[in-house]
Amino acid sequence: RKLPLDPSEEPGVRQVKGACFSRVKPQPLTKPRFVAVSHEALALVGLRGDEVMDDPLGPEYLSGSRVMPGSEPAAHCYCGHQFGQFAGQLGDGAACYLGEVKAPPGQEPELLRENPNGRWEIQVKGAGMTPYSRQADGRKVLRSSIREFLCSEAMFFLGVPTTRAGSIVTSDSTVVRDVYYSGNACHEKCSVVLRIAPTFFRFGSFEIFKQADEFTGRQGPSYGRDEIRSQMMDYIIEMFYPEIQQNYPDRVERNVAFFREVMLRTARLVAQWQCIGFCHGVLNTDNMSILGLTMDYGPYGFMDRFDPDFICNASDNSGRYSYQAQPAICRWNLVKLAEALAPELPPDRAESVLDEYLDLYNGFYLDNMRKKLGLLTKEEPEDEMLITELLQTMHNTGADFTNTFRSLSHISCPSGGESEGETDLVKKATELLLEQCASLEELKAANKPTMDPRELAMLLSMAQSNPALFQMISDRRTLSKQLDKLSRLKDLMETSQEELKNKQSEEWTQWITCYRKRLARELEGQSDVQAVQEQRVRVMDSTNPRVILRNYIAQNAIEAAENGDFSEVQRVLKVLEKPFSSQQGLELPAWMGRGGVSEQGERD
Ligand code: AMP
Ligand code: MG
Ligand code: MG
Repeated sequence: RKLPLDPSEEPGVRQVKGACFSRVKPQPLTKPRFVAVSHEALALVGLRGDEVMDDPLGPEYLSGSRVMPGSEPAAHCYCGHQFGQFAGQLGDGAACYLGEVKAPPGQEPELLRENPNGRWEIQVKGAGMTPYSRQADGRKVLRSSIREFLCSEAMFFLGVPTTRAGSIVTSDSTVVRDVYYSGNACHEKCSVVLRIAPTFFRFGSFEIFKQADEFTGRQGPSYGRDEIRSQMMDYIIEMFYPEIQQNYPDRVERNVAFFREVMLRTARLVAQWQCIGFCHGVLNTDNMSILGLTMDYGPYGFMDRFDPDFICNASDNSGRYSYQAQPAICRWNLVKLAEALAPELPPDRAESVLDEYLDLYNGFYLDNMRKKLGLLTKEEPEDEMLITELLQTMHNTGADFTNTFRSLSHISCPSGGESEGETDLVKKATELLLEQCASLEELKAANKPTMDPRELAMLLSMAQSNPALFQMISDRRTLSKQLDKLSRLKDLMETSQEELKNKQSEEWTQWITCYRKRLARELEGQSDVQAVQEQRVRVMDSTNPRVILRNYIAQNAIEAAENGDFSEVQRVLKVLEKPFSSQQGLELPAWMGRGGVSEQGERD
């Protein structure tokens, strides 16, 4: 069924009742052309990047400008909680599902981990209006497409479950966007990312069943709500969780096992995000994959200097989706999923599954962090404290998150066979870590409160004179953070660069001394000291990336592409495909080596 694409014509943009998909037609682009392709992602669906790039119809097909034979494009209807509020019908407002492609024979099992049926869903993102486009146009621009393309692939190569990106196509079609910083309306080129995943079903897919009036129309008929919910659960469990389907003949038990597995994957995923300093930015329930994949790369960001309050989404005023909030937010989203699955999932059973979340998350996080610190031969309860103190030291000294972890493999276990004394070794390690620390000016900039100074002064005096009243303020969390920053800034104002360096040096010396004591215990009872050392470096260097997609790296590739030079996108992708490599031949330009000041991610 062909839908008119003008939203003012029925049935264009609308509330869709009683269905979870609508047939749509992707809108063709004028002069589509490739910006970049991911050879590895295209191989998932049996395509060769070089052939696709050479084919004049390549950009036509991969942007949805031409519909592939056999494809029946559709947009998915879903709901979601956005920033804590139920937002009603959302749906694929800019993405368009093209169909499924069977994985070519012999695809690596690792690639099929979340895809037991071996079929890949392909989607074009930015292909124009759908019934779910609401006030927007269903288009994406070059900036946001490059960000989604590069980060999808970067995450995959970092070993983090994610949806994939096969190509970016740009065109001569334009849309008007407010460029966030300048505030000027600006014509930008329409661009389309080809996304690939086992499925794009999300928590929000189930939330269309949550409120009767969402699915059925306020007083309308039920449209088979319960039947469609059951079908959707059956489909997802049979297709993507076949072991659960097989092992649980009882329907309720099957559903509980399914929910438990989603909970586990979500806990594991967010633990991975925390360990690479990734901040998603928009953890609404409609951006939470039902397979535990990272999905929807909008204003995401990787931290440069460690800051638990890092917020990468400029419109997230309260810091709901800050770095340190992510684990708890993911649990909150799981609660919403459980509510949407009721009554198929009994609430008391869901609750006991959710009770496992925190311990599971902590377990994944600690396992991952132990690898990052190279603590491999034994687990000690004090490890948690060592990790917390490492992060605290990074925060206090303004150390770069990625580079600090990467440099830890240079600190080896004290084996008794060293030629230098302990003091000298600690001193050397301290110097190494000091290279990752912020200068006085950088620290001052990082601790500038964002609030109006008069407001801040008022709050400060209130906090001192009437703590009880201060406690009553609803947004206290953000306020205390502002005050924290202010007090850090005050200290910094009274410090010289040299004093700062000494303080940073002291802090790192203290931590490294503890770390080396712990490392000494790594060797206790080990006969082959050399083998432990080598294994440790191997594990650390394949867990702590040397390169991540820092914001300015993406920004640099975007600026080049906007000026017509697409080679930087392809080159950055190539580097991100080997994030752990210190191999020659993959040299980075100087600006990719160290973290600069973190900028906010951009809106799409
Ligand atoms: P997001 O915050 O990116 O997860 O998007 C929230 C909702 O807005 C989803 O329903 C999207 O499909 C929709 N949306 C995002 N960008 C656009 C766009 N450019 N045109 C139409 N709908 C959009
Ligand atoms: Mg989304
Ligand atoms: Mg988005």
